[in-house]
Amino acid sequence: MANVPFFDGHNDFLLRLLHAPERRELLWLGETREGHLDLPRMKKAGFAGGLFAIYVPSPHEGDMGDIQAMMDNPPYDLPLPSLMDAGQTQAIAVTMAGHLLWMERVSNGAMKICRTGADLRHCIETGSVAAVMHMEGAEAIGPDLDALYVFHDMGLRSLGPVWSRPTVFGHGVPFRFPSSPDTGPGLTEAGKDLVRACNELKIMFDLSHLNEKGFDDVARLSDAPLVATHSNAHAVTSSSRNLTDRQLAVIRESRGMVGLNFATVFLREDGRKATDCGWDPVLRHLDHLVETLGEDHVGFGSDFDGAELPDVIGDVTGVPSLIDEMRNHGFGAALVEKIARKNWISLLERTWGT
Ligand code: ZN
Repeated sequence: MANVPFFDGHNDFLLRLLHAPERRELLWLGETREGHLDLPRMKKAGFAGGLFAIYVPSPHEGDMGDIQAMMDNPPYDLPLPSLMDAGQTQAIAVTMAGHLLWMERVSNGAMKICRTGADLRHCIETGSVAAVMHMEGAEAIGPDLDALYVFHDMGLRSLGPVWSRPTVFGHGVPFRFPSSPDTGPGLTEAGKDLVRACNELKIMFDLSHLNEKGFDDVARLSDAPLVATHSNAHAVTSSSRNLTDRQLAVIRESRGMVGLNFATVFLREDGRKATDCGWDPVLRHLDHLVETLGEDHVGFGSDFDGAELPDVIGDVTGVPSLIDEMRNHGFGAALVEKIARKNWISLLERTWGT
């Protein structure tokens, strides 16, 4: 049986290209088996499309090795890197946008950057990978927002105001377990302007990483469906990065969407990074999200190439096994199709217009 095509709310593949630009052809088109993604593996697995994040690392972040090590021993509360401004980040963000445009150019039609609902539908129908340019942390946009219009012209269609470090727009949650997501102040005035500008441009506004007061500010201001591209259920794993039942209810009310994050630290009940957790935590989060949000508001938000994943998933080629597990767990064919792809496509169409 052919794999079920799926759409994914978050990956950090562009970060791998940023760290090794001289190997980009091999990393994108070759079969290195490194990391979680490349075009041949995506095709094999049924990766129909997804959000590709532009994320500018902090200067001393390295490969986040220290952070990952600390996350192995809960409880933890990791210090956040300090704020970076547009001057420090804009050139790198442009480089990463350029990597995505390059990926499209060299893929001979096998991947296309989608800017409209029509682009998305065309890709899904023809089997091209539907790539969406996303920005995780809006550091590269100054408080005057001019650069937002430039990035929109380049193809940006989705943006989160913060990764976890603070920006001029708002405050992300620190990586803390256990912790509520209510960890600090809400959006700044510039942050509120950013929400309005994204609504005007129909850029999807991503709530993953934002703290609870910032979340509530967006919920009050935004006229678009509320979306957390890669977050899980706080009722199952009490990480600062996961969403409380109250937040899930607000998302449901807006006809929004949550993408299930495959990172073990946000899946495992004990908050540990260890990858030998089997399918159980994945299915528990899916059950809770479907129960709380309803069948039309849940999808995948893998965090491929940005996190440690359960061994049972491994890399993008593990998604067909996840889909099998969902079936074995009792999810009917219609629900599987919704979670795998249809909910994301419909959400993006509602947000962008058709
Ligand atoms: Zn993230």
